[in-house]
Amino acid sequence: MKRIGILTSGGDAPGMNAAIRAVTRKAIFEGMEVYGINYGYAGLVAGDIRRLDISDVGDKIQRGGTFLYSARYPEFATEEGQLKGIEQLKKFGIEGLVVIGGDGSYHGALALTKHGFPAIGLPGTIDNDIPGTDFTIGFDTATNTVLEAVDRIRDTATSHVRTFIIEVMGRDAGDIALWAGVAGGADDIIIPEHNFDMKVVAGKIQEGRDRGKKHCLIILAEGVMGGNEFAEKLREYGNYHARVTVLGHVVRGGSPTARDRVLASKFGWRAVELLKEGKGGLCIGILDNKIVAADIVDTLENKKHRPDLELYRLNNEISL
Ligand code: ATP
Repeated sequence: MKRIGILTSGGDAPGMNAAIRAVTRKAIFEGMEVYGINYGYAGLVAGDIRRLDISDVGDKIQRGGTFLYSARYPEFATEEGQLKGIEQLKKFGIEGLVVIGGDGSYHGALALTKHGFPAIGLPGTIDNDIPGTDFTIGFDTATNTVLEAVDRIRDTATSHVRTFIIEVMGRDAGDIALWAGVAGGADDIIIPEHNFDMKVVAGKIQEGRDRGKKHCLIILAEGVMGGNEFAEKLREYGNYHARVTVLGHVVRGGSPTARDRVLASKFGWRAVELLKEGKGGLCIGILDNKIVAADIVDTLENKKHRPDLELYRLNNEISL
């Protein structure tokens, strides 16, 4: 393979730039050409494509977001959209494609693969909700950003003897809430993958108060319900007035952590190794600390992401 393309799609995640850099530099090292596609699948279909040189990816490794921009483009779920995309790839002489994104973006890569075009998916999303990998690019940074906020809120919660509900991103996956919750010493972590009983939550707040605890921090994944709704329901169980902080998109931005930069570099490097060998239809991941490449069709159709629920049990037992 002599010429490859790269795009970022879906929600942006810190570390995407590090992955683009790794793909570009490794490909050039291997004597290949790299074409950057702006705005994900939308830019692919529109032909918003340009060659990337060594210096185009300079001074990018430390930046959040994606300098290739991202977009939602539902039309790519149709065969018509996919064939238009392949037409553009052929027009530019691109023989293989690296897609960095979440679950939806993987489906785009899967569609290209099914049409016979070699595509490789790299997991890039703060939510960590992609099958075939223990960690995604951006998750570590997002978790640390939440943690910083939790630590700050703890200061004011303690000073005023308050209960705080901190709502974090995670529509379907509670990974950010779980990891930031354990790291931040949360009293309770509420995630979509585990049911909860508001009476038990209220009971725990009461127990803390009874023994003179000054603060109570509850980390709530947005997929369960909104923070304000949660606070309202909590009030039905007694005098449990809670302040709500919704972290929202703040968590998406910022400079990637060392861990995310290294992970992104490893993923990108491996993707080019595979494309160089003419292999496509794969997605890259890290499992048990080893970089792996798995069949994208099998991964999407038969594998499911599961959060580390041991963290949930652990937190319940150490956050007394
Ligand atoms: P995140 O979960 O972080 O938001 P994502 O990649 O899952 O990232 P989506 O908006 O679901 O985000 O998908 C990104 C893009 O991938 C879509 O806008 C669309 O262009 C493409 N896509 C999504 N689903 C499919 C599909 N079934 N077939 C082909 N392309 C798809």
